Amino acid sequence: MKRPLIKSCLYLAILGVISLSISLGAGCKRREITTSHLKILDHEEGEPSLAEGMANIDPDFEPAYLKLYRSGELKKRGEELWSMMRSCKLCPRECGINRLAGNRGFCQASSQLEIASYHPHFGEEKPLVGRGGSGTIFFTNCNLRCVFCINWDISQGGKGRPRSIEDLAQMMLNLQKMGCHNINLVTPTHYSPHILLAVDLAAGRGLRLPLVYNTCGWERLEILKKLDGVIDIYLPDFKYSQGKMAAKYSSGAETYPEITKRALLEMHRQVGVAKPARDGLIYRGLMIRHLVMPNRVSGAKKVIEWIAENLPKDTYLNIMSQYRPVYKAFEYPQISRRITREEYSEALGWAREAGLTNLEIQGFPP
Ligand code: SF4
Repeated sequence: MKRPLIKSCLYLAILGVISLSISLGAGCKRREITTSHLKILDHEEGEPSLAEGMANIDPDFEPAYLKLYRSGELKKRGEELWSMMRSCKLCPRECGINRLAGNRGFCQASSQLEIASYHPHFGEEKPLVGRGGSGTIFFTNCNLRCVFCINWDISQGGKGRPRSIEDLAQMMLNLQKMGCHNINLVTPTHYSPHILLAVDLAAGRGLRLPLVYNTCGWERLEILKKLDGVIDIYLPDFKYSQGKMAAKYSSGAETYPEITKRALLEMHRQVGVAKPARDGLIYRGLMIRHLVMPNRVSGAKKVIEWIAENLPKDTYLNIMSQYRPVYKAFEYPQISRRITREEYSEALGWAREAGLTNLEIQGFPP
C-alpha cells in the first residue's frame, strides 16, 4: 500500500515543478515580448526610445532639444549652421573662411570634426557632477586661444583625431549609458553645426541628458539664437572686464567684454537662473565661471559688479581660484605666478558686497 502512495506523491511533486517552470517561463517570455513590442511601437510612432539605456536623471526632466527633434527643427538648424561654414562666421572672429572646402580658420578647425577625448568628469561644478559625473566631450581647437590655457594641447596643440557626426552621437549615448548626468560640450563654438546634427541623431536613439554648453563666453548672438531650445545649461566664462587684457592674453580678442556681456544676457533669457532640482543636480540655467587672475588682470571687481547689476542676484557664479601659469603664461610677467590668498579673498568680498547669493566658492588651493 505504501509504494503506490509514495509513487503518487512523487508524481504530483514532479508535475508541480514542471508546471511552476512553465508558468515562470511563460511569465518571462510575456515580459520580453511586451518590452520589445513597445520598443517597436516607439520607433513606428517616431518617438525616441530609451533603447540605449536609462538616463541617470530626474524622471520629471525632459531636455529642451526633444521638442525641436520631434518637429524636425533641430536638424534644420544644424544644417543652417553647417552652411555658415562656407564663409565662417560661427564666432566673433568672423574669419569668412570656407571651411567646407577644407580650409582652417583662426580656430584651426576645418569642417572636419576633431575630438580629443570623452569621459565622465568629476572635477566640474558639484551640481553637474552628482554621483555619475559630467559627461565631458573635449573638442579640439579653439577660437579664443588664450596664452594661459590649461588645455592648450587640445585647444591650440591640435591634440585629438577626426571623428564623424555619427561618432559624436554615439559618444553622447555612451556617456548616458555610463551613468553621467549631462553632456558637457567643452569649447563647442566652432563645431556647433556638428553638435546639433549629432544631437538630432542621438535624440532619435534615446538621448535624454541635458546639454551643457561649456564656452569661453565670447559668442555671437546670431549663433546663440540657433541654440535657443537646444541647450539646457549654459556654462560660460566671463574672463575679463577690460578689452585690453583680453586682447593681450587672448589673441587680440579686444571685443571680449562687450560681446560676452550681450551673450550672457541672451543665455539668461533662454534658460534663466540655474537652480538645483530635488536630487541636487542642475538641469537648466545659466552658470557663470570667473577665473581670478594675478595682479587683477581679469578685472574681477567689474565682472562681479556687472553680473550683480544686470542679472538676478541669485545668478550662479563660480569664483575660481585654480589659476596656474602654464603654456605661454611665463612670457608675461603679470600672469606668471599663481594668485595669492588675498587676491582670492578680495574677489569673494566684492561678490558679497554686490549682493550675489548663489556663489560657488572653491576655497584657496594649498
Ligand atoms: S569658428 Fe573658427 S573659422 Fe569660424 S569664424 Fe570662428 S575662428 Fe573663424
